[in-house]
Amino acid sequence: MISFNVPPYYGNEEIYIHEVIQNHKICGDGQFTKRCNNWIEEKTGTSKALLTTSCTSALEMAALLCDIKPEDEVIMSSYTFVSTANAFVLRGAKIVFVDIRPDTMNINEKLIENAITAKTRAIVPMHYAGISCEMDVILDIAKRYHLLVVEDAAQGVMSTYQGKALGAMGDFGCYSFHETKNYSMGEGGALLIQNQDYVERAEILREKGTNRSQFWRGQVDKYTWVDLGSSFLPSELNAAYLFGQLSKADEINENRLKSWNFYYEKLYPLYEQRKIQIPFIPKDCVHNAHMFYIKTSDITERDALIRYMKEHEIETVFHYIPLHSAKAGLRFGRFNGDDVYTTKESERLLRLPLYYGLQSEDINKVVESIWQFYKNRNPIL
Ligand SMILES: *Cc1c(COP(=O)(O)O)cnc(C)c1O
Repeated sequence: MISFNVPPYYGNEEIYIHEVIQNHKICGDGQFTKRCNNWIEEKTGTSKALLTTSCTSALEMAALLCDIKPEDEVIMSSYTFVSTANAFVLRGAKIVFVDIRPDTMNINEKLIENAITAKTRAIVPMHYAGISCEMDVILDIAKRYHLLVVEDAAQGVMSTYQGKALGAMGDFGCYSFHETKNYSMGEGGALLIQNQDYVERAEILREKGTNRSQFWRGQVDKYTWVDLGSSFLPSELNAAYLFGQLSKADEINENRLKSWNFYYEKLYPLYEQRKIQIPFIPKDCVHNAHMFYIKTSDITERDALIRYMKEHEIETVFHYIPLHSAKAGLRFGRFNGDDVYTTKESERLLRLPLYYGLQSEDINKVVESIWQFYKNRNPIL
């Protein structure tokens, strides 16, 4: 079976984990957490990066820092992971969904302004497949309406938009280091903070509402309960695993891009024959090969293709039942405007196996199986 995903493993992780064990410091905010934070700060140019237990917790911290209150509204697309919405719902916000662009599956930036009301507090662009939303337009709207921008850049580590790192353009950016992402620590994430003014509160929220971070630095002589908070900091053992990969990020990125480009090149003729669609990369975007997907003509064809691939021992997956149509989405959100593309395009999308170290004979097999499946099908797109 060719797996859809294999968790990233470079080979140097054990050395760093061993170091953590030898140092007798396995809780959070030791030297490996700091090395990961520094790596993110240097790579992205963000003012402050804080490793978290997940992207979900980074989003929750961002919602707290935005000071979201009950009845506030937050704008996002409905084609995203539940945590993008849940982080704000936990603070009592109402989610206002707008339609996506069919070419990138990202929020349609042209529909955002129309969804703004007096209650709107934030825009949450999610960069699908590590390909950036139109941040120029989004940041301009946010500025004009005094809204905060929280980037869900869970899939966007090592991607850029006009040369700027995803996650480092909005007020807050959230990364994921889950095992399905390009760089991993099993479960983990990071919060990127652009404005220094938020850093002190962020450190307190992350340390159970205490000023322990200041205490460690010798800035206060005892630490105490000063604000809301929870435990959002990961263990050093996990941070060490992640640092193994961040220190080799260019190699991992190149390896993924090689696989992605191979898929693109080999499936392009099928796209030209109008049998499938393949990803579109806008000119301002440099992506990180987080994902390679194709789009079938409809959900029936997608189901057939999944079955066909499975028979040929290839695992393919789809995702995101649009949030606005889910049980909780109906309760906590509303769709502004028409759902022209969100549902329709989500039903056509299929993700192909892609991970660090994917073997070329395996990619060949995937490509050949897709060609075989489409051999006798008519172009219907
Ligand atoms: C993976 C992912 C998340 C959640 O990440 P965790 O680290 O598992 O919490 C959130 N948003 C998007 C878009 C994701 O792809």
